[in-house]
Amino acid sequence: MLEILDTTLRDGAQAEGITFSVEDKKQITAALDELGVSWIEAGNPGANPMDLRFFQEMASRPPLRHASLVAFGSTCKASLTPENDPALQTLCDCPASVKAIFGKSALYHVTHVLRCDPEENLELIRSSVHFLKSRGNTVWFDSEHFFDGFRENREYALSTLRAAVSGGASRIILCDTRGASLPEEISETVRAVRQEIEIPLGIHTHNDSGLAAACSIAAVRAGCDHVQGTIGGIGERCGNADLCTLIPLFSLKLSMPCLPDGCLRKITHLSRVISEIMNIVPRESAPFVGNSAFAHKAGMHIDGILKDPATYEQIDPEEVGNQRRFLVSDQVGRAGVYARLGRLFPDLNRDSPEIGRVIFRLKEMEAQGYTYENADGSFELLAMDTLGRRQRFFEVADYHVLCQRYVETSDKALPTAQAYLKISVGGREGINAAEGDGPVNALDKALRKTLSEFFPSVSRMSLQDFKVRVLNAEGTASLVRVSIESSDGSHIWNTVGVSENIIEACLRSLIDSVDYMLSHFVPAEEISSAIGRISGRNNASSPLYKASEE
Ligand SMILES: [Zn+2]
Repeated sequence: MLEILDTTLRDGAQAEGITFSVEDKKQITAALDELGVSWIEAGNPGANPMDLRFFQEMASRPPLRHASLVAFGSTCKASLTPENDPALQTLCDCPASVKAIFGKSALYHVTHVLRCDPEENLELIRSSVHFLKSRGNTVWFDSEHFFDGFRENREYALSTLRAAVSGGASRIILCDTRGASLPEEISETVRAVRQEIEIPLGIHTHNDSGLAAACSIAAVRAGCDHVQGTIGGIGERCGNADLCTLIPLFSLKLSMPCLPDGCLRKITHLSRVISEIMNIVPRESAPFVGNSAFAHKAGMHIDGILKDPATYEQIDPEEVGNQRRFLVSDQVGRAGVYARLGRLFPDLNRDSPEIGRVIFRLKEMEAQGYTYENADGSFELLAMDTLGRRQRFFEVADYHVLCQRYVETSDKALPTAQAYLKISVGGREGINAAEGDGPVNALDKALRKTLSEFFPSVSRMSLQDFKVRVLNAEGTASLVRVSIESSDGSHIWNTVGVSENIIEACLRSLIDSVDYMLSHFVPAEEISSAIGRISGRNNASSPLYKASEE
């Protein structure tokens, strides 16, 4: 089996804007272990006391299921011996299955960065590896700038690898540290190394030329049996090779399984879990795991997909735990709208006149500035409304929002807005006011506070994301589109609202959000006790549908 080493926690931590706490590292380690990678390179304990604490805390826990931990460090300082180098000593004593140390393989770096004699560098590599090995460690050598070094002085680059082998290294990782190599060059170089070095070889690439994945594949085909990368390709500058691209490629296209059976299907979910812990938004267009990886928009494509998914999908999305999405837009046509609505309205077929009515309404709304590509919730409500099947759970009778400028005080965060809101639910009125740190926040709080009195489940709802887009630049009278992502803790849905008034646009999006939640995720008894008898629905997944059948 091809070995995968994830270095999100070590090399990935070099990415701009990324920092990990010990707790973050533990959570990411657990997710990577569930994914089933062989190795997790989790930090540099000699350089970072927090990383040392991480390894120590992990050592007191039950062992991981799939993965083993690798601690990273460097060859000893040129002015010291390995025995006297505190960082190497800390690495030596750190509880991790493997110690990986990097050293210089490019002559230019030896003479200009390390500023030592080339022979001395070879001895630094050999003696540092030997020091760790002689104290009972498994040692790997990360050959920094190997491909640049090989291009510059082939014999010297190879001699650094021989030094590591003679010190007792059990694997050598060839690094394209600047991300400057082309795939053919990587293959030729790995083949040349393969002739000289008998221990297993690994590949570590960077994406400065956009070729990190291609270079990793070239290296494996030429004889590497160990691949390094990060989740989402995060890392210094343009990042590292993206394991979420490489793992599916190796598993599905090169018949080189690299995860335990069944684990490939977890990669989409776990990559998103890890992104969440890292507090980064996963790239929508990421191959295999991106939200757009199996999203279809053009009408002709959707028509093809409905006939045979292989027409526009390279693999079945379920193989990587992702899902097919049909985007709704005015380009989508009948096939796309039917693809979305067929599930909700099993009584319709592709040629039903209702589909045409929904398309007409969709185009009308898009002309007003709405977009439903990323607002599945609002699209469904729009379709229901067009077909006369939308349930209105409440009406907003009135609202006032008051904004005020406060003098900032250092000791107290003062609210900057208040909202007053009146709604009616099944003939009864509810009135509430709320404060917030902005008008939208105050209105959202007032709406949910009032609605919770009728529908207690609404108190579980929270806003996950909120985006405002100005649609036409005509000064302050421009149209504004507000997109909201909401959650009840187990589901996520998206809605949209448009108006010239940002508060009104937000309210429209919020109303859709609450309506969507009430029609999908709230028990029928709760709805009927708030609004009385429910008219018929035709949505099999909705609790209302069940209520209407009773
Ligand atoms: Zn690197």
